[in-house]
Amino acid sequence: MSPLTIVRTVAELRAHTRAWRAAGQVIGVVPTMGALHDGHLSLARAARAECDRVITTIFINPMQFNNPDDLLKYPRTEEADAALLATVPVDLIFAPTRDEVYPEGFKTTVSVAGVSEPLEGRMRPGHFDGVATVVSKLFGMTMADRGYFGQKDWQQLQVVLRLVRDLNMPVQIVGCETIREADGLAMSSRNVRLTPEGRAKAGVLYTAITAAAEDIRAGQSDRMAIREAAEAIRAAGFERVEYIELRDAATLMPSDDPASPRRMLAACWLDGVRLIDNIPV
Ligand code: AMP
Repeated sequence: MSPLTIVRTVAELRAHTRAWRAAGQVIGVVPTMGALHDGHLSLARAARAECDRVITTIFINPMQFNNPDDLLKYPRTEEADAALLATVPVDLIFAPTRDEVYPEGFKTTVSVAGVSEPLEGRMRPGHFDGVATVVSKLFGMTMADRGYFGQKDWQQLQVVLRLVRDLNMPVQIVGCETIREADGLAMSSRNVRLTPEGRAKAGVLYTAITAAAEDIRAGQSDRMAIREAAEAIRAAGFERVEYIELRDAATLMPSDDPASPRRMLAACWLDGVRLIDNIPV
């Protein structure tokens, strides 16, 4: 049993947030899909440090899953999540049902062109429309002043930044650093689907892209460094390197200009699990 308040409806949520706003309190929201780990908790702790009130939302958003199997297999651990959030602590968990978020007759899609299109957008058609739509809804539902997102999902963070700018949403977006396991593997709710053998190899994704970034900084060609990273990842036993790309950090467009901020982003398959990661270059 968790002492935290869990609310399921927008009406209940608004009763809390209206009172908080009337008292002049700053509200932070941490959107998640649950199956929480230290990565999520780091966002909640950042929000706790900077806001008067913290809401964590737990909603497995069907609209952002392009793969029905992934949606079906997505871990659901609400009780454990609530216990973890009580350690932060947050003020409230908003865990709505699917019908509360997408009631009968729902017809609106929020689509951010440009930054949504390459990489994850190309590999997962419709994914960022689902993200942009649900994030817009969660901002409207919570009336939050600040929204906390992980750099782990770098492209998502850029999509959300573009979204709030383009639609003049009065929400300040905070991007928090990626939290990693001891071997470098970025924490992810999907990591529990790795076999013990897969888990033992999974850190190679991070070490390989880190080595590539260092080589590029030392003057090696982008293409050669990326090819070597892909080879190292395949040699470790990953089934597939979907992409490793060096991109402009904000627009996610190809960039060969070392003078502007760039990001190396990767998606690779191991044990039938799709792992993503990214680092600054
Ligand atoms: P998810 O539940 O996977 O949708 O993630 C919810 C939020 O937590 C997103 O903003 C993610 O970027 C962030 N997040 C997930 N994993 C990590 C991590 N390892 N480090 C930091 N933030 C993370």
